[in-house]
Amino acid sequence: MSENPAIDNLLHETRSFPPPEELAANANLKADAYDEADADYEAWWAKQGERLTWDTEPTQTLDWSNAPFAKWYSGGKLNAAYNAVDRHVEAGKGDKVAYYFEGEPGDTREITYSDLKDEISRGANALTELGVKAGDTVAIYMPMIPETIFAMLSCARIGAVHMVVFGGFAADSLATRINDCGAKVVITADGGYRRGKPAGLKDTVDAALEKTPDVHSVLVVRRTGQDTPMTDGRDRWWDEFVDGQSAEHTPEAFDAEHPLYIMYTSGTTGKPKGILHTTAGYLVGCSYTQWALFDLKDDDIYWTAADVGWVTGHSYIVYGPLVNGATSVLYEGTPDTPHQGRWWEIIDKYKVSLLYCAPTVIRMFMKWGEEIPAKYDLSTLRVMGSVGEPINPEAYVWYRRVIGHDNAPVVDTWWQTETGSVMISPLPGVTAAKPGSAMRPIPGISADVVDERGESVPNGSGGYLVVTKPWPSMLRTIWGDDDRYVDTYWSRFDGKYFAGDGAKKDEDGDIWLLGRVDDVMNVSGHRMSTTEIESALVSHPKVAEAAVVGASDETTGQAVVAFVILRGGAEDDGDATVQELRNHVAREISPIAKPRQVMVVPELPKTRSGKIMRRLLQDIAEKRDIGDVTTLADSTVMDQIQKKLTGGA
Ligand code: ATP
Ligand code: MG
Repeated sequence: MSENPAIDNLLHETRSFPPPEELAANANLKADAYDEADADYEAWWAKQGERLTWDTEPTQTLDWSNAPFAKWYSGGKLNAAYNAVDRHVEAGKGDKVAYYFEGEPGDTREITYSDLKDEISRGANALTELGVKAGDTVAIYMPMIPETIFAMLSCARIGAVHMVVFGGFAADSLATRINDCGAKVVITADGGYRRGKPAGLKDTVDAALEKTPDVHSVLVVRRTGQDTPMTDGRDRWWDEFVDGQSAEHTPEAFDAEHPLYIMYTSGTTGKPKGILHTTAGYLVGCSYTQWALFDLKDDDIYWTAADVGWVTGHSYIVYGPLVNGATSVLYEGTPDTPHQGRWWEIIDKYKVSLLYCAPTVIRMFMKWGEEIPAKYDLSTLRVMGSVGEPINPEAYVWYRRVIGHDNAPVVDTWWQTETGSVMISPLPGVTAAKPGSAMRPIPGISADVVDERGESVPNGSGGYLVVTKPWPSMLRTIWGDDDRYVDTYWSRFDGKYFAGDGAKKDEDGDIWLLGRVDDVMNVSGHRMSTTEIESALVSHPKVAEAAVVGASDETTGQAVVAFVILRGGAEDDGDATVQELRNHVAREISPIAKPRQVMVVPELPKTRSGKIMRRLLQDIAEKRDIGDVTTLADSTVMDQIQKKLTGGA
């Protein structure tokens, strides 16, 4: 144990932005929500459970007798798809649009709640005909099209457990996940559009299926129309098989704890874990948070600009908005196809009022320049969220000023695949938010920052982020590996959920995420966070993106090594730029944080959800062979970086 287990608190940020008055006055959640939830958190969650329509009401809100294996809403029975779709149709909202779909090539579709009900009823009948039963797992490997959502909900409707894999993953990654969760049916498409071109998916499924002996059926949605070989007796076209099914299907009620889906984590730090989410608690978590953190109103147009193959897509494209009966935008493509204003064009066109995206894409927009969003009407935006990584203060302020017309609150939402829904975030109508801070646990959630011994650190210090009470949308286990579940999350600190992230509490007790505990650097006895040094680098006008790692060093134990991407137009004058950036960090943070090396690179290695994979950069900094790259969004990035560093480009 080191003498000073806390993470040194280095970055100073003093700006804060109170909510606009009108939003505050009409907010879904007001400040008293914290008191109500603190007074009796089980009563708070019992009340949130009323968001759902139950076939049988639960008899107990939380059963923690077999901790850390939780049961929420015990005794309750319900159907997830009924809650997401049918009940809105029964309530007379059948004509309300559930999704405005915008394909990358510019094709569009409007899907109402009635349409959705028909589609998923057919899907449920089709899966049943293929022999899929409640409790079976179904793999989904799709582009961002409406059928992906139909497929997920069709599974949920019959109690089958879906397991969605990013459409960008290679055959091996797909096969490993299919085998790990035991799926026998795969739903895919011929292909999807990516950067203006059709990209095949079915061919990858065919390759994966050479290694998955148990898969007996594949359903293939026609999206691109590309040439697609079909295997007799195994493969069926969705439009031939599903569209011919009856649109009548009676949903069955399942236990509150019935498994809903498995999702593998991003794999930023290591081998992905199959995270299991169950029905009622998960639906409560994502519907409550989408309603509270985006201040969702009936006429809002909501857009989570993320991939469905990431947990953010599950919770905030599919289940949260649908359980709330909201209208969402679903966009297939990338932000720069066919032009760099595509997102802003979509917001302008559909009058999007609530936007949710990741810091990585915000930094990319900053790099492209603010004249691009300036060409569009973004005045409808009321609340904007950020998720996936710590948002650097500079990126936050830019997002708020340029996209949110200096008025729309930014909610920096901290959560994980494991937590199912947002845990720490400002409330848009209550919190005077500080750029770079996720602020406080939301009402109903108890989290803290603790030291090596598991004791709460005082304000002004850093340590480990923990969740101190169970919550409804928590993971129930790692699929097939209860021991790993207990080991990974519940063994480090007795009775507390260990998130794996470093964090600090500022003088007001507000929480700042500092990056992965695995990434914390120890330089001459000072424990430093990657996030703070990266934020200092991003605050330099020449820098668009930065990633920092600790590399072993003979004199200091570890040394700070920084990788930076320069902004468009910024001049790279070699050593002078490097010196300027090193000194900038020393000035902004402290001389002890001054990077030993700054390397200017063309790209950074990222997962499909936009997270920087620092372990790969550490391999470069320590001159090792590069580790596992299978969860990278772009597998050529590591080659590009090495070529640049060895004097190539
Ligand atoms: P693996 O666990 O396999 O390494 P992963 O942790 O990257 O993958 P996710 O569950 O998608 O997979 O990511 C959750 C992590 O993302 C959090 O633990 C945290 O490190 C980071 N994160 C998410 N939102 C925020 C946020 N608002 N601020 C800071 N960090 C965030
Ligand atoms: Mg993780």
